[in-house]
Amino acid sequence: MTSSKRTDACPEDQAPAALQAAAGDSPQASAGHGEGGLRPAARAAGITRRSFALGCTGAAALLALGGAVQAFGSDALVRPPGGQDEGAFIAACIRCDKCIQACPEGAVVPAPLEKGLLNARTPTLDFKLGWCDYCEGSHAGVPQCAALCPTEALRLPSGARPEDVVIGKAYIVREWCLAWRLKNCRICVDACPYDAIELNGDGLPVVLLDKCNGCGLCENLCISMIGTRIVDKATDRAVTVRPTAVVEGLLAREAGVGGRP
Ligand code: SF4
Ligand code: SF4
Ligand code: SF4
Repeated sequence: MTSSKRTDACPEDQAPAALQAAAGDSPQASAGHGEGGLRPAARAAGITRRSFALGCTGAAALLALGGAVQAFGSDALVRPPGGQDEGAFIAACIRCDKCIQACPEGAVVPAPLEKGLLNARTPTLDFKLGWCDYCEGSHAGVPQCAALCPTEALRLPSGARPEDVVIGKAYIVREWCLAWRLKNCRICVDACPYDAIELNGDGLPVVLLDKCNGCGLCENLCISMIGTRIVDKATDRAVTVRPTAVVEGLLAREAGVGGRP
């Protein structure tokens, strides 16, 4: 809030004294000098009333943008294959939608504004709609999203296999999981093409992180939110794929308070 007040109030009469003087706003500064009353030092520095005003406007816009980004947050998103270096991805993606149109599974969608200004309209994976088989079923294992990306925002090493390109990691919220709550569900265990979910000694599903590549089939098929929620407070399916760093953070936090229940 403080910053927006400051940006609204960027008229020259509130500028720091040194800048006002340099821009020739003080009576002393304007007296006896041509070229809009600018002092020689200000002219040498290339500061004019106009450039100063433009600077204020630019700073206001940047601060306003910063405030908006803060207001909307900037969630970590699961990216299509080859977009896992988030900094390089955001810098290169021009939001052209080619990857979205290319995905034969319909799993690539544009991120909504609620996911943050930087994320808005960038591609993310919605595993409720489909899952990523690296285009093995439709294009002989040539990921179409990366193949058609014009800017290499999605960049895969040549010959990359699904096991080499980890999209994210599956994470089971046990409080929302049918098996953990009531037993007898093993849909995700049977579905996983990489044997990355197994039953523990109590017959309950657990993710084997080193085998999971974030394909999303478990999330796609999870029935915990279909029809009725197993748990009233559940806001998502019991198993979801999240960015690898997010899952690692969750597990580290849980380990810090004595591990998972
Ligand atoms: S690799 Fe193929 S299936 Fe996977 S997200 Fe890209 S286009 Fe979709
Ligand atoms: S094809 Fe590439 S540049 Fe275009 S939206 Fe997808 S990731 Fe961004
Ligand atoms: S996302 Fe789910 S189905 Fe895919 S590899 Fe990981 S655990 Fe298996």
